[in-house]
Amino acid sequence: MKNYDYLVVGAGLFGATFANLAHSHGKKVLVIDKRNHIAGNVYTENIEGINVHKYGAHIFHTDYKDVWDYVNSFVEFNRYTNSPIARINNEVYNLPFNMNTFSKIWDDVFTPSDAMRHINEEKNEIKGEPKNLEEQAISLVGRTIYEKLIKGYTEKQWNCNCKDLPAFIIKRLPVRLVYDNNYFNDRYQGIPIGGYTKLVENMLEGIEVKLNTNFFDDVEYYKSIANKVVYTGPIDEYFNYSLGKLGWRSLKFDIKVLDKDNFQGNAVVNYTGHEVKYTRVIEHKHFENVKSDKTVLTYEYPSDYEEGMEKYYAINDNKNNVLAEKYRKLADAENTVIFGGRLAEYKYYDMDDVIKSAFECVKKELGIDEL
Ligand code: FAD
Ligand code: UDP
Repeated sequence: MKNYDYLVVGAGLFGATFANLAHSHGKKVLVIDKRNHIAGNVYTENIEGINVHKYGAHIFHTDYKDVWDYVNSFVEFNRYTNSPIARINNEVYNLPFNMNTFSKIWDDVFTPSDAMRHINEEKNEIKGEPKNLEEQAISLVGRTIYEKLIKGYTEKQWNCNCKDLPAFIIKRLPVRLVYDNNYFNDRYQGIPIGGYTKLVENMLEGIEVKLNTNFFDDVEYYKSIANKVVYTGPIDEYFNYSLGKLGWRSLKFDIKVLDKDNFQGNAVVNYTGHEVKYTRVIEHKHFENVKSDKTVLTYEYPSDYEEGMEKYYAINDNKNNVLAEKYRKLADAENTVIFGGRLAEYKYYDMDDVIKSAFECVKKELGIDEL
């Protein structure tokens, strides 16, 4: 007799969604996480009365009504709309690229056709198929915008010249010919009031959770206590890197508390030039409109991945994708282990997509059509 139906490795959004739904269908579930907190990378910590997004800024946005209804059944969401600012030297521009951006970049732009005239003129310098990210970006928005708003940011992000990066990374750059600074196209958007940790805490209510508990400290034991394992850690680590290590980009976060009520007037300011090494400064209080004399900032520095750091962005180039595919084949042969989430699937997942994929996984696992 096993103690549990499911052992869920990882208390991030994939693990928490799976655990919550399996539990509500009468299954006995144990969740473990090697960190000292739940919520994985969406974890928020209260500092000076402000919910600080400890692993980078997270804005919930989705077109899936079922996912939106699901998260709203645990906590109320506010009506935060992401409208980042781009700063380069002493100029500021609105993102995503829209009429507010274009009319500030070019003095004679008032209408969408004025903007298109400039963009089309500048695009002309690229003949034929774009061969790299620089050519791709110029062929989409022209050189002026590329140099002010894309080049520096992207080179800092990937630690690589844009001429040496593949074009596909930037295939879809939103160019909007309207005076609208909303970054996302999705129908639903917001921030959980009280922070993401509260959301995940409520999802895990009634479920046994063990923190500071690493699956690899005793794999045989953890496998022996449950009928099935839901594994949301890195896929290559599960197989002891037997085929080699998958590549990741990492981030370093520098958190500052200031005796100031308002530092930058916006939650997200992107620094798109090389004059500073960070790519973003997050002022967390603006996510939830907190009124206080203090403010908490996070400076975000892109970084190469080194042993012991967090894995943030999968490097989905050809070499890594081929390796990930080989690991997926090994994973398919593990009959009592389900692999899910961004680390185990080696892909960039938005929060709503990771929840949606956990929905599908639970349906398949429990043999049901509706949750
Ligand atoms: P995770 O949250 O990483 O959870 C995996 C958990 O497994 C971790 O807690 C880890 O400690 C645990 N674990 C791993 N190995 C073991 C082990 N051996 N034993 C025990 N536990 C283990 N998405 C959006 O929709 N909007 C955004 O604005 C947004 N911003 C982002 C900003 C950044 C900088 C990044 C990197 C991502 C962003 N995302 C955003 C994506 C979002 O973070 C992911 O969709 C989400 O966190 C994925 O959840 P997950 O459960 O797959 O992984
Ligand atoms: N990007 C850019 N300038 C910006 C913001 C984004 O050039 O101010 C490009 C950059 O190449 C980046 C990509 O768009 O890697 C995706 O950025 P986004 O902020 O949408 O996603 P994130 O990297 O934060 O997950």
